[in-house]
Amino acid sequence: MRLVYLDNNATTRMREEVLEAMMPYCKDVYGNASSIHRFGRQARVAVDKARQEVASLLGASSPEEIIFTSGGTEADNFAIKGAVHAMRKKGNHIITSSIEHSAVLNSMKALEKDGYKITYLPVDGYGLINPNDVKKAITDSTVLISIMYANNEVGTIEPIEKMGEIAKERGVYFHTDAVQAVGKVTFQAKDLPVDILSMSAHKIYGPKGVGAIYIKKSTKVDTIMHGGHQEMGRRAGTENVPGIVGLGRAAEFAKKEAQEEPKRLCELRDYLYKNIAQAIPDTRLNGEPEKRLPNTLNIGFKYLEGESIMLNMDMEGIAVSTGSACTSGTLEPSHVLTAMGIDAGDAQGSIRFSLGRDNTKKDIDYVLKVLPPIIQRLRDMSPLYEKGK
Ligand SMILES: *Cc1c(COP(=O)(O)O)cnc(C)c1O
Repeated sequence: MRLVYLDNNATTRMREEVLEAMMPYCKDVYGNASSIHRFGRQARVAVDKARQEVASLLGASSPEEIIFTSGGTEADNFAIKGAVHAMRKKGNHIITSSIEHSAVLNSMKALEKDGYKITYLPVDGYGLINPNDVKKAITDSTVLISIMYANNEVGTIEPIEKMGEIAKERGVYFHTDAVQAVGKVTFQAKDLPVDILSMSAHKIYGPKGVGAIYIKKSTKVDTIMHGGHQEMGRRAGTENVPGIVGLGRAAEFAKKEAQEEPKRLCELRDYLYKNIAQAIPDTRLNGEPEKRLPNTLNIGFKYLEGESIMLNMDMEGIAVSTGSACTSGTLEPSHVLTAMGIDAGDAQGSIRFSLGRDNTKKDIDYVLKVLPPIIQRLRDMSPLYEKGK
């Protein structure tokens, strides 16, 4: 059976070159990057090189703006909790959106319990946040605005520059969760009105369990991990040297392929959508048609449950997802689709296809062969479909 992995927004397959780069640091170069002897120095050199590669991919002004973390989730926690802690004398109000990743949403929930006031901005039918809503929500006690660069479920790319400018005018820190944008959208952090940015290695063909936070020079973000003096005193804990080396190598490739690969994915993705829309009636495209990640396609199949579509595709070797990996298994409709005003029934029948560098046109043709009969079979069994006809 052909295996087709179309869940690259959940995680990606590590590149061979990344694994190769990591191997020496799992075996022979085992020194602690904080040690002064040659074992330690070798590890330090590798960590610093990776820092430069990540800084270059993100377009930072200097490598010192990059701090390594245990992943996107820690980067989001660090950004949000660290920034509001540093600013706590100024106020206790935070602005975010209703379609954030759970790493952001649940950080906000935790802060709410600690007495912070959170404004969750709405989105339109495409998942877009209106910059005017940001402007209106800012008060004298606002200390942070945290809005994702691109949404992981529907792929909508938010107007980060406009919102960042508004934050800058009002002297409020702006954080963006760029985990999905990195490698798919080109930007230079130094030119963006963004103070703090989160990224993760395993979404760009790097290893799991490592990520980074970009903190623009002179932005005050307190540490949330207390201990040793690693990472310039901003994030304690012995560095995950193999992971960091892997992230550096993945960043190098992401930069090299930033022009061509998104274009290729976009063509494949549009080919997939065009043919699904032609072959299957009663579908809807979820997300902004144009301002969208090049690899992401979220489709609603009317009258159906996403879970059963997903499981039937899995039996044919195709991996897709319903909503995000972090909220699947809860059986609740996606908070992103709900915020977009899509009714619970239609939200339930939505599937996310997220393409990656391994995917070829043959993979897509296989999906196009397998999917229409699955949908037809499931609809023939669906009581909703009977009523809807
Ligand atoms: C995957 C993801 C995260 C979490 O990153 P991890 O490295 O898996 O912790 C955060 N935000 C978004 C938008 C993501 O897609």
